[in-house]
Amino acid sequence: MPTREYDAIIVGASFAGLAVARELRGKVLLVDRHEVGSHQTSACGTPLWVAERLGVKESVIQVHTRVVIHTPSRTVTYDTSESPYCTFDYRRFCRGVLGQCQVHFLRTAVRGLEGGVVETDAGRFEAPCLIDASGWHRALVGDGGLPAAPAVPLSFGLETEAHYSGEALYFWIDPGILREGAAWLFPAGAQSRVGLGSYAGTPKLRAPLARFLRTLGLAPTRFHGTYFPARLGAPIAGRIFAVGDAAGQCLPLTGEGIRPAAYFGRACGQLVQSVIAGARPLEVALDEYRRRVLACRRAYRLLRALQRGVQRMPGAWLGPLAELGNHPAIRGYWWPRYLRFGQP
Ligand SMILES: Cc1cc2nc3c(=O)[nH]c(=O)nc-3n(C[C@H](O)[C@H](O)[C@H](O)COP(=O)(O)OP(=O)(O)OC[C@H]3O[C@@H](n4cnc5c(N)ncnc54)[C@H](O)[C@@H]3O)c2cc1C
Repeated sequence: MPTREYDAIIVGASFAGLAVARELRGKVLLVDRHEVGSHQTSACGTPLWVAERLGVKESVIQVHTRVVIHTPSRTVTYDTSESPYCTFDYRRFCRGVLGQCQVHFLRTAVRGLEGGVVETDAGRFEAPCLIDASGWHRALVGDGGLPAAPAVPLSFGLETEAHYSGEALYFWIDPGILREGAAWLFPAGAQSRVGLGSYAGTPKLRAPLARFLRTLGLAPTRFHGTYFPARLGAPIAGRIFAVGDAAGQCLPLTGEGIRPAAYFGRACGQLVQSVIAGARPLEVALDEYRRRVLACRRAYRLLRALQRGVQRMPGAWLGPLAELGNHPAIRGYWWPRYLRFGQP
């Protein structure tokens, strides 16, 4: 079969891939094994400005101005009214961003790279600019196989929807619910997304999630779950850009991956566009992208260290720690910085 040629090929049409695609004008191929917006793997909670900046505010279901953290000994409430969070509809979000892209979308599975050619179930494709936005699968930058051997430690999340409405984003950090992990309940209108995330990467979360739902008096509907990275990975591999979970850009501790995928996706897209337009050589764009991602290395290291601390900490310390983090003197230092991550 002949190889078809493009200016750029993006593998993965979720948060990271769409954020890249939105910046590109040229002969661009966007590939995903699922229809865009059809395969939700996230609770879809993110700062409201992320949806606004991507031009998909219409996908927002609910705005949240409080984050409530339950620990074994106490409950701590963080006020986020200065920079509210939202829960959104995944399908509307993705389809809304896709509507702004000038790309050719192809639904097919990528098998890997062979001799610089992207091998898919629908044929072979080539481009000077290759972008891996395939999440933890790392279809291009992984070690040549599917699924790729994980290069960074992975957490695992399992989630369901339940008929419940609420006013805040709720977290539980409680070894009684899950050792080395957290539980959440994110209201989105009449439904809430309820899940468990294991920092240890344990995929066997169905039983503890069912137990947790019972304690809340809720019944599960459909389940979905997947891995997400717990450490920043390499932003480039050879001549391939890696974006989003494919590059370990999900924030450790909080597991926020949408905002970094949108942020680094935009940066990557703008650099790739400059290559397509002939304004930069590919090597310079790769180097600039690597530099921009690694500029955030310290923030990732700090969050990773905190995650490891929480994983190992006795349950009795979690309440005082959450309260300490909310003390005005301490909160004033870290909270605005955390919220500013990814803002222009
Ligand atoms: C249960 C759960 C809840 C979460 N909740 C939140 C939350 O509320 N807020 C938040 O900010 N983060 C959340 N996260 C993390 C967040 O979902 C991820 O960090 C985010 O989805 C990363 O986006 P991405 O585009 O890099 O990868 P993904 O969203 O994983 O997208 C990868 C895309 O690549 C495609 N793909 C993969 N392999 C191939 C292949 N071989 N061929 C073709 N296509 C391929 C997939 O079909 C997919 O569409 C959650 C994670 C989990 C597991």
